[in-house]
Amino acid sequence: MLEKYGELYKNYNLQNHNTYKIKSIAKYFIIINEIAKLKSLITLLKKQKAKYFIIGNGSNIILPTFYNGVVIKLNFNELVIDDNNIEVGSSYMINKLANETVHLGLEGLEWAAGIPGTIGAAIIGNASCYDGSLIPLIAKIEILIDGEYKTITTKDFKYSYRHTSLRDKKVIILKVFLKLKRGKKEELIKIIKDRTQKRIASQPLEFPSAGSVFKNPEKDSAGRLIEEAGLKKYNIGGAEISEKHANFIINKNSATSEDIKKLIKIIKKEVYEKYNVDLILEQEIIN
Ligand SMILES: Cc1cc2nc3c(=O)[nH]c(=O)nc-3n(C[C@H](O)[C@H](O)[C@H](O)COP(=O)(O)OP(=O)(O)OC[C@H]3O[C@@H](n4cnc5c(N)ncnc54)[C@H](O)[C@@H]3O)c2cc1C
Repeated sequence: MLEKYGELYKNYNLQNHNTYKIKSIAKYFIIINEIAKLKSLITLLKKQKAKYFIIGNGSNIILPTFYNGVVIKLNFNELVIDDNNIEVGSSYMINKLANETVHLGLEGLEWAAGIPGTIGAAIIGNASCYDGSLIPLIAKIEILIDGEYKTITTKDFKYSYRHTSLRDKKVIILKVFLKLKRGKKEELIKIIKDRTQKRIASQPLEFPSAGSVFKNPEKDSAGRLIEEAGLKKYNIGGAEISEKHANFIINKNSATSEDIKKLIKIIKKEVYEKYNVDLILEQEIIN
């Protein structure tokens, strides 16, 4: 029945759809190419009270061992660049767009060159780095909300550090319109190169992970607290707290969803007991 909406797979292993590279079986996995089909599918799933979620590049989520519902992958990758105006489908990778626009001498997305996620998820979770985020660049966003299409601007939702009210309202991002500035191509390329070097030096990019596990507490760093609690290299099963950056959990050796979640509990407990700080997860646990 679901086949008419897209490319459907049953009992599908999402190992290559999450950057932790953990095994996770989805009861249904469907790739959608058309916005109208997505709208009909969401209407049907809501009517049936079926469980579903949209997966981007899986770089900010902890998947369950088994997902008893429908995992929806969007294939909305159209890109139109007209002078400094960008129109981009929500599943387009933000790091790819950053590199492409910088090579056209367009300024604004340099901060996003190291973020292995989609534009849609970067908006939903207000991804940011080096004080950069999509918010000041957004002209408008086309969304699906409560089964209806809408066009919104940043005035229509609330946002804060790694959070937007769009996520709370289960909005689906369809297309994004950005306005960039003209910049100096060589300078922009240099910024990206320098920052890539910094990431390579400070993050365990040689292992699968989903980036920072916890949000930084105000005026502090989650990595510093975890490191000072003596937890670097602590491991459960195949999941380990990175030696290079304590706010990264890495999949060292066939880690499972449970290994990662247990490690998260231990980190929270230890940091709370030692520093009275309640670390808030940045990554999202999918149940
Ligand atoms: C090595 C590494 C470095 C990273 N560095 C950074 C960093 O510097 N800054 C930063 O902010 N993050 C960083 N991240 C985390 C991650 O890449 C970002 O949060 C990214 O925006 C997640 O995108 P995604 O497509 O992988 O989303 P996913 O993990 O697939 O999904 C995240 C959430 O977005 C929702 N979603 C996905 N697409 C849509 C859509 N079209 N409409 C509505 N909801 C949607 C999902 O349902 C889920 O709730 C890093 C991750 C890694 C692995």
